[in-house]
Amino acid sequence: MTVLDRFLRYVRVDTRADERSSSCPSTPGQLVLQEQLAAELRDLGVADVTLDEHGYLMATIPATIGRDVPAVGFIAHVDTSPEMPGDGVTPIVHRDWDGRDIVLPDDPTAVLRAADYPELAAQIGHDIVTASGRTLLGADDKAGVAVIVSAAAELLAHPEIPHGVVRIAFTPDEEIGRGANRFDVARFGAAGAYTFDGGSVGELEFESFSADVMQVTFVGFNTHPGYAKGQMINAIKAAARFVDRLPGDRLSPETTGGYDGYVHPYQMDASVDRTTVRVLLRDFVTARLREQQQLVEALAADVAGETGTRAEFTVQEQYRNMREVLDRYPEIVERAREAIRQAGLTPREKPIRGGTDGSRLSFMGLPTPNVFAGEHNFHSRLEWTSRQDLEKAVQVAVNLARIWAG
Ligand SMILES: [Zn+2]
Repeated sequence: MTVLDRFLRYVRVDTRADERSSSCPSTPGQLVLQEQLAAELRDLGVADVTLDEHGYLMATIPATIGRDVPAVGFIAHVDTSPEMPGDGVTPIVHRDWDGRDIVLPDDPTAVLRAADYPELAAQIGHDIVTASGRTLLGADDKAGVAVIVSAAAELLAHPEIPHGVVRIAFTPDEEIGRGANRFDVARFGAAGAYTFDGGSVGELEFESFSADVMQVTFVGFNTHPGYAKGQMINAIKAAARFVDRLPGDRLSPETTGGYDGYVHPYQMDASVDRTTVRVLLRDFVTARLREQQQLVEALAADVAGETGTRAEFTVQEQYRNMREVLDRYPEIVERAREAIRQAGLTPREKPIRGGTDGSRLSFMGLPTPNVFAGEHNFHSRLEWTSRQDLEKAVQVAVNLARIWAG
């Protein structure tokens, strides 16, 4: 059984997450896949395979050395994005791809062109895997799941590879931000971990945004519009004026990249009496979130003064830049660089303009950078991966197990 065989099996299980559900996991398909994975891991001889009622699978690859070395964790998520259909995924392997356009059969307008995707253009001769045009592929993150299961198989088949305890976790509902919610860090018992949930070969991510969400509410006064003269105060108009004053050429998702943060109004609940604007605050430097909050509050206060509304605010922490934790454990990132180099690749390090489960796990006491798994165009019907990317990621995982043994 190869990593590609495993991947092709996992993507056929519909594990699309659902943010409207309050159960954990949010959809039953995730448990179906977890049960299959638990059985497969047991068949391979992986120890301590447990699947709890919330859909968290944990397992152990026992040490092959007598010395006591810290346990390392490998983590991937089984759910797929709610933004795209994930049922009836039909993976297609384009063996020894010759560089020509890949037209997906279920939707002839869905075309992967080498000219549009330099990362694809670099994979001529590789076995490219796509979906059929109607759904996503689910490489995010079934690539990571397949990589970890295959690394476990390889480590178990080669007891001569020296390594300490390797812990495995497959989590639900990462795509809706809940993957870390019920993750039992103490029970996992690893000194550090890696999520295999990244893009091109060599990628290594250990910086994420710090993130808060703000609610800005304008309180107006509603009355019958026919008799409102001199009385009505329209909170919708106040909110519109406020949104219009938010920065546009800077501090906006549409106009920033790299290490720039942003202030992003993304939802509005509007009525004349009360209008609430939800605003995402994002920066790589946590202290700047406070400056963003002050900017939002000042703009809203000005508008409230001009319009006769009252402005109310709440701020909620979402996640923090994992680097704040990982800087205290430089060896965890360094070992990933070394594992990537030993797979014949150059580490490619870039900040994540978002958060991962690793951002939250790092602050829960499990420092967790993110390693590539060969995911491309994720959350899209043009999602793809390649057999060669998957195999490189397996090598990196096996290398990590060995490097952690010192
Ligand atoms: Zn993912």
